[in-house]
Amino acid sequence: MKIILLGPPGSGKGTQGELIEERYGFPKYSSGDILRQVAKENTPLGKKVAEVMKKGELVDDEIVIQLIKEKISRKEGKQGYILDGFPRNLNQAKKLEAMIETSKEIVFDIQLSEEDIIERLSDRLICPECKAVYSSKDWRKNEKKTCKKCHVKLIQREDDKPEVIRERLKVYQGQTKPLIAYYKAKKNYYPIDGSGSIEQVFDKICLVLDRELMFSEGEAVLK
Ligand code: AMP
Repeated sequence: MKIILLGPPGSGKGTQGELIEERYGFPKYSSGDILRQVAKENTPLGKKVAEVMKKGELVDDEIVIQLIKEKISRKEGKQGYILDGFPRNLNQAKKLEAMIETSKEIVFDIQLSEEDIIERLSDRLICPECKAVYSSKDWRKNEKKTCKKCHVKLIQREDDKPEVIRERLKVYQGQTKPLIAYYKAKKNYYPIDGSGSIEQVFDKICLVLDRELMFSEGEAVLK
């Protein structure tokens, strides 16, 4: 089973992807996390990727597709995997389709209003070590603003600054949103209201996944 998480920045794809990984055991591949790792390297590629990400634009398709291809061909993803942030445009979606064998593909489109997106992104902090995301509700409870797991100080993502958020939203509207029509035209497209709590959104996803898994033989077993 291949699970694709669509949705604007800040809609909760990463958080929901982690919960799906934990409950169903499929590995999650986040193109954003993979690219942030590449951007840290002091290489021509790392520098190029860092420059693009800083502006909130999309990294070249060829680079991202190659990185994702390496991940999904690993044996731990044999039973399925979760893609968070990939595909981001029509070309990537078509390339992904050419990579995916016949196994079932499920697309969750986590929807959120622009107002909510801006509020969530400008207020969230992340752990620089484990990449856990903390909403303002979470980090305000914690005076030291440190990660619960790694105990290091939480930081704001460079591309969560207001001017970059605006660019990321523009990119989403222009390049990623057309993917909705593309996947709607296929089977297994599920729009999900992303405005509820993490648990409410996850419950909706589980309803779909539990049903899909029940009817697909030889796939992962529920934990
Ligand atoms: P994310 O963590 O998914 O919000 O992604 C952060 C940034 O990484 C984006 O603003 C892009 O610059 C880059 N990025 C992530 N996924 C992709 C992708 N599939 N294609 C191109 N660029 C991407």
